Amino acid sequence: MLAYRHAFHAGNHADVLKHLVLTRVLRYMGEKDKPYTLIDTHAGAGGYSVEGRYAQKKAEYSDGVARLYDRKDLPAPLADYMSLVRAFNPDGQLRQYPGSPALANFLLRETDRLRAYELHSTDHRILTSYLESRPNTQVSDRDGFSAIRAELPSPTRRAALLMDPSYEIKTDYAKVLAALREALERAADTVVMIWYPQLVLLESAQMVPRLKASADAMAKKGWLHARLTVAQPDANGFGMLGSGMLVVNPPFTLHDELAECLPLLVEKLGQYDGANFVLEQKTV
Ligand code: SAM
Repeated sequence: MLAYRHAFHAGNHADVLKHLVLTRVLRYMGEKDKPYTLIDTHAGAGGYSVEGRYAQKKAEYSDGVARLYDRKDLPAPLADYMSLVRAFNPDGQLRQYPGSPALANFLLRETDRLRAYELHSTDHRILTSYLESRPNTQVSDRDGFSAIRAELPSPTRRAALLMDPSYEIKTDYAKVLAALREALERAADTVVMIWYPQLVLLESAQMVPRLKASADAMAKKGWLHARLTVAQPDANGFGMLGSGMLVVNPPFTLHDELAECLPLLVEKLGQYDGANFVLEQKTV
């Protein structure tokens, strides 16, 4: 039984970083005429009410997307992502937050394929009904890590993969690493986007070097790593300090786009003076 519900966290600083990166990758993939496949291994419910009981519990969105929603001075990539959040809120008030499948629904063309995996029965049901009328789409209630074998190589050849587990089970760290390796073995040019939480935890600290080493050995076009640190550890030395995205085979445009946005994200979303970002890449 899964305890994690993304509705508690929708629109927080981690979603902002993840969805900024996702929208840039999907915009880039959509520039070529040829269709592509997006595989979302841990898709969630699709969209979330920020006025609902879950999101209001800790109101994480108020320290995330809400700090950017009404701004007119955002760099173009952030303005583009925020325009999609606005499109998800027809009356203009920030009431709903689009998850990764909803952002994909905005950006994928009819000919692009979407494969969304979600294990939680309630979120799976909501997601299925949300994507019901989208062409070339399948929503599965199977384990998202099994998607690698089931979906790659894809019939479109061009493919992007978002791996965004909740890490509520520590074995997720090892599974993500194994899934990256399997994905690159099956299709070495897949654009793989991996989200991870920045925690005071050995598994979290070891994750990025291990992912980079696998990408170094197996990816066709290198990797990019972006991390946004917004908070300090709590009084017990724990808590989520921020989060990161490792993108394997990234679009060549992504580094400069994120360089334009990350300083502003530190300024607007940082919760202490030491808030900071990391942006690094290795090209092949
Ligand atoms: N990707 C979503 C977004 O950006 O809007 C958020 C996903 S949330 C961080 C992680 C989701 O993975 C949860 O909805 C959880 O129920 C689901 N989940 C956990 N383990 C899973 C697994 N092995 N396979 C598929 N889904 C899983």
